[in-house]
Amino acid sequence: MVKEFLAGNRRFVEKEFNRNRDYYSSLSGSQHPTILWIGCSDSRVSEDVITDSKPGSIFVHRNVANIVAFNDINIASIIEYAITHLKIPDIVVCGHYNCGGVRAMLDGVEEHYIADWLLIASGAIEKAKQMAREMKLSKMELRHLLAEENVRLQIKHCAVWL
Ligand SMILES: [Zn+2]
Repeated sequence: MVKEFLAGNRRFVEKEFNRNRDYYSSLSGSQHPTILWIGCSDSRVSEDVITDSKPGSIFVHRNVANIVAFNDINIASIIEYAITHLKIPDIVVCGHYNCGGVRAMLDGVEEHYIADWLLIASGAIEKAKQMAREMKLSKMELRHLLAEENVRLQIKHCAVWL
């Protein structure tokens, strides 16, 4: 498995890095990203791929279900560094449909760390469930709604630092 990624790195060096040495040389000195991206760890939602961006343009934090936790010193330090040192003007909280974290919020999960982590989104879970009852949504529609409500809640959590 790792061999595939090493081969991919060799292709990157040959096709991308060597053809754009000046660009990558300038990046080695400093970074000037214009967006802080808070996204899900899901391997299908790679921020640079889905935004067609080059290295150096997005400052990234990803975790299960793109959650902004008040007591997470990791994300707190990332937001602080992004605002204070990198002077990044915009923060993106990106959720996605068919998110395993969102599904686990609704279906429950056996693993303790994941269960505790997802509790941070409990406000979005209750709101989405109530809306789904009122609108008579299907289970899939509820999952989609919760993915969206979770993003709205995590944006509110970001406001603590702004
Ligand atoms: Zn996800």
